[in-house]
Amino acid sequence: MNAEPLNKSPLANISELELKSAETVLDWGKTLIVAPHPDDESLGCGGAIALLREFDVEVSVVVLSDGTLSHPHSKKFPAEKLRDLREFEIKDALEMLGVTEKSIEFFRYQDRSVPSENSENFNEAVERCCKQIATLKPDTILVPWRRDPHPDHRAAFQIINQATRKFFADIRIIEYPIWLWEIAESVDAPRASEVTAWRLDITEVLDKKLRAINKHKSQTTDLIDDDAEGFRLSPEVLENFATDWEVYLESI
Ligand SMILES: [Zn+2]
Repeated sequence: MNAEPLNKSPLANISELELKSAETVLDWGKTLIVAPHPDDESLGCGGAIALLREFDVEVSVVVLSDGTLSHPHSKKFPAEKLRDLREFEIKDALEMLGVTEKSIEFFRYQDRSVPSENSENFNEAVERCCKQIATLKPDTILVPWRRDPHPDHRAAFQIINQATRKFFADIRIIEYPIWLWEIAESVDAPRASEVTAWRLDITEVLDKKLRAINKHKSQTTDLIDDDAEGFRLSPEVLENFATDWEVYLESI
């Protein structure tokens, strides 16, 4: 149930959201990025990652799924080969943004099967994340918007929410929407009563962000051309990520 009218959502007028300066990320401190799939990191928060690194702030990344359902029928890229390709692509993208390979961890859950709170292996996923958090000791964690349309994105939020609530209550959690324009006018939109929303000015690193997105060639080009049902980030969709700001949400 959503009793609040949609026009009350903080995302109803994105262009009117407060625009915070690039230096804002300095308040985040050491940051852990949780990416359900290779590409979410660049699409959702590539600008923030680049800024953090330019300010010499430590950034690490956990990639939850293997990304192998983007092209499930490709003969040229069966699951294992596609997984390797997507892991190569995210390493390449993150290098562009200033994050080295040793700061990336792959959990390799099957694509679309990242454990959600109703899954049998949810607690195990929470424990894995807790171990990672205990090792990395981040001040801030970036995770997809809790009601982003993709089930893996929701599961990612549920895992981190559970892990931090229980054991790491001091860590700041900031949510990043991926399918922003889709959720802005749906019942999944953030409500003014639950979160604040703002934009981060990424003008000075937008070029880096776009180059990082383009490193995900399996998602942005015809590199895998033998799967009619293969996923593709079309130019129209990519345009939505080419803004000189990124939107972030934080619980009130
Ligand atoms: Zn994703």
